[in-house]
Amino acid sequence: MQSKWENRTFKDDLDERVYSSHLLGSVPDLVLHGGGNTSVKTEEILHTGKKAAVLRVKGSGSDLATIRREGFTGIRMEDLLAAKNISEMPDQEMVDYMKKSMVDPSEPSPSVETFLHAFLPFKFVDHSHADSILAITNRNVSHDEIRSIFGNVVVIPYFPPGFKLARSVLERLGSISPDTEGIILEKHGLFTFGGSAKESYERHIRLVTKAEEFIKRNVREKIFTPKFKESSTESISNSLSAIRGMISKRSKKIMHLDTSSEALEIACSEEAEKFTERGPATPDMIIRTKHDYIYCSDLKDLGKQIGEYEKKYEEEYSRYVSNFPMHDPFPPIIVIKGRGIITSGISAKEAEIVRDQFVHSMKVNSLAEKLSGQRFIDLDQSYSMEYWPLEEAKLKKFKPMPLQGCISVVTGAANGIGYVAALKLAQNGSAVVVCDIDPEISKRAQEIESLTKSPVLPYILDISNEQAIREMFHIIKQEFGGLDIVFNNAGILKSDPIEDLDVKDLDRHYAIIGRGSFIVSQEAFRVMKEQGIGGNMVFNITKNFTNPGPEMTSYGAAKAFAAYVCHYVAKEGGKYGIRANIINPDKVFKGSKIWENGVLEARAKAKGQTVEEYKTQNLLRREVLPEHVANVLLALVNEEAFGATTDAMIPVDGGVK
Ligand SMILES: [Zn+2]
Repeated sequence: MQSKWENRTFKDDLDERVYSSHLLGSVPDLVLHGGGNTSVKTEEILHTGKKAAVLRVKGSGSDLATIRREGFTGIRMEDLLAAKNISEMPDQEMVDYMKKSMVDPSEPSPSVETFLHAFLPFKFVDHSHADSILAITNRNVSHDEIRSIFGNVVVIPYFPPGFKLARSVLERLGSISPDTEGIILEKHGLFTFGGSAKESYERHIRLVTKAEEFIKRNVREKIFTPKFKESSTESISNSLSAIRGMISKRSKKIMHLDTSSEALEIACSEEAEKFTERGPATPDMIIRTKHDYIYCSDLKDLGKQIGEYEKKYEEEYSRYVSNFPMHDPFPPIIVIKGRGIITSGISAKEAEIVRDQFVHSMKVNSLAEKLSGQRFIDLDQSYSMEYWPLEEAKLKKFKPMPLQGCISVVTGAANGIGYVAALKLAQNGSAVVVCDIDPEISKRAQEIESLTKSPVLPYILDISNEQAIREMFHIIKQEFGGLDIVFNNAGILKSDPIEDLDVKDLDRHYAIIGRGSFIVSQEAFRVMKEQGIGGNMVFNITKNFTNPGPEMTSYGAAKAFAAYVCHYVAKEGGKYGIRANIINPDKVFKGSKIWENGVLEARAKAKGQTVEEYKTQNLLRREVLPEHVANVLLALVNEEAFGATTDAMIPVDGGVK
């Protein structure tokens, strides 16, 4: 591994710390998704006005690749070193101790390896879970052999992260000198240190290089042993929704399908078939990946395999865990022989992290196996990591968003009601697909994504085009695995007296509002039925259906058609838990393009009203806003509120005068 160090001058210690943290964090073979941590011992003026030694260590919520100064939490060294006299500290006590010693309590929680950083008597400390180091330590390997590979290093047997690990390092400080290159933690990773960030970083690279060279000398063959031929991925795409349903029985998941050449190499390998119960590369990954994954040779058997996985997980949970409620027992990783890798999580981001952790774990395990037989921590240690008290404390406080793990589709989402509906769905945790004929939809999707951090997939769609709709649903399945919520909202409006109405306009309204919402609903119905976990379709029909105004034949008749589509979705979907309901808003002005260019003023004038009067001509004398409609949509898809409601219509019109 090449050092990326470039000589430069630093403003201060923390500046130096930030620079080399980025160097470590930007290499996935060293640090993956928030893994690893770094620190610097410095001096600061405290709130008392006194100068004190302070440890700045990576706080939670930062990634080494992008960490900024404020990502490093300050803790008084005097307090941390006083803990050298404490022989035992359970995790929660350790967290409380660190909290009381923070320079500024509003900073992020410091890393669980804080004490280890503090006890090492060096200014800079770097820690990673380097793949090549793990390939060497994730085996039955003697400390002598490890030292013969790395030279002047200290080797520590496996301890779970926390105070015990820090103490085991403390007890070995006598054998650590300024010449010691680093500490190898069995089945965990690497610590290096030095008087400067450069010294610590370059030791890191040197030791990783030694590991890489050792592997190169001893593993001549490919990392993965090819065993099976690649097959078409078509059948996985077609099965994704059914798989999503099978693993979403307790909580909804978003899926990630990987058919890249890297994923296929794994899916075609002998190792993928063999390693299902070998565990990931590092214990902390277990929290997301679990210990086992499923290897599926024939999609027909997958349902049975998932059932067996669930049962095995429940048995192991009751054997190894007593004090915490059971996590979701379904597999986060499914390898389909010769076809690809499916991972899942409560969000698209989580599903991707699981994918990355799995691919790295497979490489580590395969190399370890080829060196001399891979061996990970024991199953009881693995379960105590999955049910780690600190993680459980976080879980207890974690309030999932109402639509966490859900996937929604909103048609006509570039502005007005559709845009606000998509925004609200995303704000509530749903992944959202927004479609519109207006190419602006891409920009709007970006806007929603940056406001909510939920993934928003834009799709430019002419909803009168049957083929285009069907393709969109194929892409939704590929991208997220299925769907839970559909908001049929796209529409156009042209008013004409009956005698002047051009049939072409009538056809156009029908194609977009009537037929378009039917094809969307038909595709959604098929996916929801396949998933077998229910679903929600909501139709924006408008007040026009129950209380039609004049000169709106095209619009009103097409909306009436869509209302009947909803009716039949409710009738036929009920037995599958698919609910279908209608929202009937009155005219919505805010954000709507229909009323632009003087149309609103002209309409008001024609009725002899002011604009304000025209907008509020209802019992409540209130303007109907897109937010009112979007919030009713959220209520309708809330199973606790409307779970027993289908085939219903809700007016959002201020009350008809
Ligand atoms: Zn670690």
